[in-house]
Amino acid sequence: MTKHDIVIIGAGPAGLAAAIAAYNAGVKDIVIIERDKEAGGILNQCIHNGFGLHRFGEELTGPEYAAKYIDMLNNTDIKLLLGTMVVSIDGKIVSMVSEADGFCQIEAKAIILAMGCRERNRGPIFVPGGRGRGVFTAGAAQRYLNINGYLVGKRVVILGSGDIGLIMARRMTLEGAKVLAVAEIMPFTNGLARNVAQCLEDYDIPLYLSHTVTNVIGKNRLEGIVISEVDENRKPIPGTEKRFECDTLLLSVGLVPENEITRSAGIEIDPRTNGAIVGEDMQTGESGIFACGNVLHVHDLVDYVSAESERAGINAAKYVLSGCVGSVGNATYIQNGTDVSYTVPQRIEIENIEKSVDIFFRVRRKIDSCRINVVSEGEVIASFKREFVAPGEMQKITLPRLLLDKALGDITVSVAEIAEE
Ligand SMILES: Cc1cc2nc3c(=O)[nH]c(=O)nc-3n(C[C@H](O)[C@H](O)[C@H](O)COP(=O)(O)OP(=O)(O)OC[C@H]3O[C@@H](n4cnc5c(N)ncnc54)[C@H](O)[C@@H]3O)c2cc1C
Repeated sequence: MTKHDIVIIGAGPAGLAAAIAAYNAGVKDIVIIERDKEAGGILNQCIHNGFGLHRFGEELTGPEYAAKYIDMLNNTDIKLLLGTMVVSIDGKIVSMVSEADGFCQIEAKAIILAMGCRERNRGPIFVPGGRGRGVFTAGAAQRYLNINGYLVGKRVVILGSGDIGLIMARRMTLEGAKVLAVAEIMPFTNGLARNVAQCLEDYDIPLYLSHTVTNVIGKNRLEGIVISEVDENRKPIPGTEKRFECDTLLLSVGLVPENEITRSAGIEIDPRTNGAIVGEDMQTGESGIFACGNVLHVHDLVDYVSAESERAGINAAKYVLSGCVGSVGNATYIQNGTDVSYTVPQRIEIENIEKSVDIFFRVRRKIDSCRINVVSEGEVIASFKREFVAPGEMQKITLPRLLLDKALGDITVSVAEIAEE
């Protein structure tokens, strides 16, 4: 067994940003473990632009964004173990396997979880009908197309209007496929508004809100898809069926943070995010184990992933250099109020916050004009106006320490619609 100061699991944008921040904060003995054969994570297959506007002030493609961090990494002594899969963590012992070295273990002083997430597939959402070839998750189709050079179909229906589905609707169209429809079970899209405009509206691809797939036709290869309108309980309404003759169904029906290792290490998971519960320092309930990026909660902007991961890296470095950060337990909890589905962090230690803390959250429904209120013991301690919020767009508020000092107990974040005059 070897020993290292910080072990980071995953070399996507989260792992890379965390590593560089920890290195710059003074810890030089860092190892990143990545199961893929190169660093960059999901960014490597996202060849569209739209990355890095906040971070670098320019619109980069996914690989360009990743390359900026890989270049920074190459100017450090951080070790990158590629083709190596972490199979478990037990306390601070990380167990992994690779073709080159077989089974190995590292004892770390601090660990950063940055394993990203995977796509939900057909099983959990009970897509009925035949099992013919031609049903793919949108991200798998993206990888086939952008990395391996295969177009997975010519006539396509997409289920789910998350960003990957929207981006693939445009990508398949640009490569010559006909995208017949995007069906979304909710009455609103789950992707960024800019992706709806640039990926569907610009290409006249119809979006069927409050619709789902009710039949998949075809024994060996998919031949058609039936979609139906759903009622307010998301149950298909008989008589509303529409049939599309197609050879491919792409599923963009959600992402699941990859937390099998986290769970089996006994780290407490928030059922709302499917990620670990963390404090403002990105530390999980286990002292010295930090989490960041999509493994913590699903992000739509990589810029936020990088900023969050830098916090994890800096705090992991502080932990290694000083033996602890925060106190894991003596905390103010952040509760979800009206129309808020989760917050990250879920707890904060106000004494540890120097100037301010960023709270990320998602709303439950689309609201045009509203206020985000932060309340403690019935008192509004902060309030932020928003012109528009939607579940597909992660929200961020920054709470200054000065206002947090007014909190008398736990705090609640909620959304209050501003009534039209
Ligand atoms: C299709 C798509 C389009 C997007 N478009 C945009 C956009 O236009 N603009 C934007 O700003 N953001 C976009 N995003 C969001 C952004 O790319 C992600 O939020 C970001 O990549 C998440 O980074 P991450 O490092 O947390 O996860 P990932 O990029 O998924 O990286 C996780 C890494 O961990 C590795 N790993 C996992 N488990 C293990 C293990 N056990 N052992 C070793 N390694 C492991 C994985 O192989 C992977 O490399 C998009 C995301 C997707 C999926």
